[in-house]
Amino acid sequence: MRTKIAIVAAVVAATAPLVAARAASATHQAADSTRTPESPSYTVSLTSNATGGTWTGHESVTFTNASATPLTEVYLRLWDNYHGSCPSTPVTVTNVTGGTAGAPEVGCTALKVTLPAPLPQGASGTVGFDLSIVVPSGADRFGHDGAYYFLGNALPVLAVRDASGWHLDPYTNHGESFYSLASDWTVTLDHPTSLKVPATGTSTDRAGASGRTVTTATAAKVRDFAWAAGPFAATSGTSPGGVKVNVYRVSGISAGSATSMLNTATAALDAHAQRFGAYPYGEADVVLDNNFWFGGMEYPGFVLDLVGSTSLAHELAHQWWYGIVGDDEYNSPWLDESFADYATDLYEGKTGSGCWNSVSWASSDEKITNSMAYWDAHPGRYAMVVYGYGKCALHDLSRVLGTTAMTRLTHDYARSHWYGVSTTAEFKAAAQALTTTDLTSFWSRHRIDG
Ligand SMILES: [Zn+2]
Repeated sequence: MRTKIAIVAAVVAATAPLVAARAASATHQAADSTRTPESPSYTVSLTSNATGGTWTGHESVTFTNASATPLTEVYLRLWDNYHGSCPSTPVTVTNVTGGTAGAPEVGCTALKVTLPAPLPQGASGTVGFDLSIVVPSGADRFGHDGAYYFLGNALPVLAVRDASGWHLDPYTNHGESFYSLASDWTVTLDHPTSLKVPATGTSTDRAGASGRTVTTATAAKVRDFAWAAGPFAATSGTSPGGVKVNVYRVSGISAGSATSMLNTATAALDAHAQRFGAYPYGEADVVLDNNFWFGGMEYPGFVLDLVGSTSLAHELAHQWWYGIVGDDEYNSPWLDESFADYATDLYEGKTGSGCWNSVSWASSDEKITNSMAYWDAHPGRYAMVVYGYGKCALHDLSRVLGTTAMTRLTHDYARSHWYGVSTTAEFKAAAQALTTTDLTSFWSRHRIDG
């Protein structure tokens, strides 16, 4: 995500419903650090109403227990229930099969499904359920701006269990709490033909019932699936590097702005790919609306954005930093935000020269590596520290290592964590391996802990 301006985030903080901050839940201590359930494969079939604002149908997910510790349950994250008033929710799951649903948890954003029998290491399970999604009002990542509907984080996804147990962190409106493993998706969307449905993955259309189109989107090795629905105008092109980009715009945005953003998108995707590895998803959809309260929001192969080249380059950098190279966005937001902003600086030719001179910490507790629990309590500092100081720290690291080593570090680190999960400790170790300079004091001075 990229905030529009700091003051906007502060205003939202003051008006957003408070969510009790809680540390990663450890309801079931796992015996090893293996992240599980792994390789989820989702199959979703939804039918919309006439506007694209209500979707009903079915979702199922097949998964494998990668851990030596048996899997006795899984958790579904129903993130967008943050936007309701639990127990009244915009995302409703019913008729669960393949397990027994418990009571909603974490403000209705988590649903435990107890499996019929513990799943040993290497065994697979499938959970299915009926699904209903009602998009609320508001130009938001889950919301609608008039006739234009945005469905980010609307589909339930599996939570992750590792050595610290199940990750059941709360939703945050200041950034992201989303943490999921690379997954495969087949999503069928039955909608009025008058609506376009930009979506994660690659889509094919076929005729449905009278006046309706059935769009099937498939995506491999992505962490989430998002889409939009509305009477968008569309502009498409292909980057010199071969990535197809589709730009969708609401009625208030001109064709000229769309063309300009298409040029930014193709250039930024190619620049990021050249630095971090080829973009693996074939195409990318960019959905433009200047009424979003944020600058932009990233989903795999799909971003929401204002008309603004810096925010678009940032969201597209998230295709690598969050998407391809995953991270626990609640506990280590810097691993995607600092890296996405650093990539954006490189794309724009900025070197961050002297940027650390303007760093001024608000307290001894403030660190680039703090979690969203901290930033939710200090929302006015989040963008400054995690984006601003974070990218500056990476520029400083580049000065310590030298540009050639830094280029190799980010490229090889992305490759070694491709479709996996980045951690602060692993990034620090990878950087240390490239220099004889002891980086201990560097990390300490830049407040990069972990
Ligand atoms: Zn971001």
